[in-house]
Amino acid sequence: MPRFAAKIIFGLAAVPFLMGIFVLIVMLFGGGLLGVCVADFVCGALAIGGWIGLWRSTVVWTHDRIVHTALAAILSVLVGSGIGVFATIFSGIPEEAAIVGGLFGGGCWVLLSTWCWRQTPQERVAAARGAASDEPIGCPMCGYNLAGLYEARCPECGTRYTIEELLRTTRRPTDVDESLTTGR
Ligand SMILES: [Zn+2]
Repeated sequence: MPRFAAKIIFGLAAVPFLMGIFVLIVMLFGGGLLGVCVADFVCGALAIGGWIGLWRSTVVWTHDRIVHTALAAILSVLVGSGIGVFATIFSGIPEEAAIVGGLFGGGCWVLLSTWCWRQTPQERVAAARGAASDEPIGCPMCGYNLAGLYEARCPECGTRYTIEELLRTTRRPTDVDESLTTGR
């Protein structure tokens, strides 16, 4: 299973576990408003910390992105609290209102953080360039390193290629260098 799919399943599995922890904390407090607020706080902290921990290695952490992530966390808490207060005034049932506020806050956090962490087109180009420089493409005919060229024509032997022909070949410049030096 790809790492990416595993991360998504971990994220999905966290939802029922968080709900279980939430209900457990409410039960420990005997079901009152205080219990719901403590459960909101604990589950909110777990959701924010766990979500960052899950995706941290896949996010390019620029200064702006760190600031936006912090703002996303604060805004989610504000939205959740606001909806909780509004629902309390609207319904007169603060316990249920606090549960609803927590759910909306959690949803907001997942959406806003994902929006902050998405890859920009510039980063996608930079990542592609990085991948290209890590694995140089050698000329399939003579093995000359074609890295950094703006056309698919080998300057060493003059053979022309299409981009997909070059990508399909697995021959690397290093393989050729070795065979040249060892005579194999
Ligand atoms: Zn060549």
